[in-house]
Amino acid sequence: MNIKPILYSLEPHDPAGHRFRVTMTIPDPARSGQTLSLPAWIPGSYLLRDFARQIETISAKAGSRSLPVTKVSSHSWRVAPCDGPLHVTTIIYAWDLSVRGAHLDETHGFFNGTSVFLQVHGHEQRPCLVTLLPPPTPSHWNVYTSLPEVSHARLAGPHRGFCAYRADNYDALIDHPVEMGTPQVVRFNACGAPHEMVFTGQIPNLDLKRIAADVKRICETQIRFFEPDTHRAPFLDSASRYLFMTMVTGDGYGGLEHRASTALVASRKDLPVRGVADAPEGYQTFLGLVSHEYFHTWNVKRIKPAAFAPYDLLRENHTRLLWIFEGFTSYYDDLMLLRSGVIDRHAYLGMLAKQISSVVSSPGRHKQSVADSSFDAWTRYYKQDENSSNALISYYTKGALIALGLDLTIRAATQGQRSLDDVMRLLWVRFGRDFYRGPGQGLSETAFPKLVREATGVEVADQVERWAYGTQDVPLERLLATQNVALSCKAAGNRPSLDARVRQQADQLVLASVVEHGAAHQAGLSAMDALVAIDGIKVPAAPGALDALLSRYQAGDVVAMHVFRRDELRCFNVRLTAPSAAECTLQDLTR
Ligand SMILES: [Zn+2]
Repeated sequence: MNIKPILYSLEPHDPAGHRFRVTMTIPDPARSGQTLSLPAWIPGSYLLRDFARQIETISAKAGSRSLPVTKVSSHSWRVAPCDGPLHVTTIIYAWDLSVRGAHLDETHGFFNGTSVFLQVHGHEQRPCLVTLLPPPTPSHWNVYTSLPEVSHARLAGPHRGFCAYRADNYDALIDHPVEMGTPQVVRFNACGAPHEMVFTGQIPNLDLKRIAADVKRICETQIRFFEPDTHRAPFLDSASRYLFMTMVTGDGYGGLEHRASTALVASRKDLPVRGVADAPEGYQTFLGLVSHEYFHTWNVKRIKPAAFAPYDLLRENHTRLLWIFEGFTSYYDDLMLLRSGVIDRHAYLGMLAKQISSVVSSPGRHKQSVADSSFDAWTRYYKQDENSSNALISYYTKGALIALGLDLTIRAATQGQRSLDDVMRLLWVRFGRDFYRGPGQGLSETAFPKLVREATGVEVADQVERWAYGTQDVPLERLLATQNVALSCKAAGNRPSLDARVRQQADQLVLASVVEHGAAHQAGLSAMDALVAIDGIKVPAAPGALDALLSRYQAGDVVAMHVFRRDELRCFNVRLTAPSAAECTLQDLTR
């Protein structure tokens, strides 16, 4: 039987007002009335975002007859019963400059399907056909997306990507974001598979050639890592090429993974300049982000927790395994920079030391396990406040250290014959490689230690229990020593400290957060206190001003701190201490 697809058409119809118009046709809607909804969240970013709140208007028709549309939940509508094809039109406000939403102005349009395409309940497995229309005023815009094109359905006039695209089902439809505009573009092949990078936003003399050469090496290293025999790129099951979409801003940073693409936000100052030999310091950070999102093409887009197979887009999807999917990806992202040769061993150990410092400096690691941090991502990790560093641990950073700890454990136990690489490759073969070729299975919540044993012969259930489900530190000093790497941690800096972070707020310096049991906490100071004076001397509202004042004291000295709390002047006697934050270094003993 030939199944009729659901038809969507999207037009950037009001760039100045940031509005997309999306129309859809459902060939055979539910007889009793059709339910439609917009996802409450976007896979990869574990927070309910209620995208439906950006739908300004929604209307429905069957033939020439208008049909009533009733909102039935925060994310869903019900259209009155009708015979024959149902047409629905929505106007969607798009002014969210992030990788998670939709954004439109006269210079470009970007959207995730989760922001613009309604889900047709009961028809999720139907194929979808999407026609992308050009903006109303003449432009030189092109379309960039990893959605497969329908070759016979090009529109009249210059092609430039404004044409029809297809998706096998709704899950695929919302996993290929779209950029339209006039970005800078560079293309390369990695292991024979086409890759394209587009950079949106003004950035003069961008060194595209250098970026393409470096990213190609990273991609090839990862493809060969997962498929050592065939060197087959993972996304060829869903698309003909992989697309990196980067929005360049003044000081942005972030990324979101998809099955054949990624949306990134990067800072102008982190990107290399044509004709300048030395790349900026932040370029490593950009390459690390690229490496991270690309690694997700395997780890989380195809190897998934069972809780994500399939996603439930209308509510939180809880899993205790994000420390594997985000943490292991955070371990391998930098490691892939080293293995591909875009950074050297010295730079790699520097990055790893930073990651260790960040975990060792988190008091919250004594209270929360990464398994619990994963589970509560929706309400805690993604909703951080001034107390989060005291109460939470990041499943990214500690998850990466658990990956390192397991890798070192396996290497030591097998005299270097096996490693975490073997575990990743077994996960890939078992869960990932054919994920989109059938009803994909995910990794169950308890299966991981068994898989490690199967892949390497090493029993790590006890370590997983203590490091991931308990709050024990990974004994990295001992484990790194087996590889002749010396880890040492000491207090960050020798200046006396309040053990609090400050931020500038209007013309005041305000305590942003206070470290539990640190000097400020012991004295009774609190987050949100506005600093006035130390021992009668004004604290200027400038970065570094507090450090400059404190540099005249020694740890152990007691100072009188005047602060405003709720506009009331208070004085606290603070015994200054050495900062509790740690600074760790790694030394390669083989050199
Ligand atoms: Zn990630």
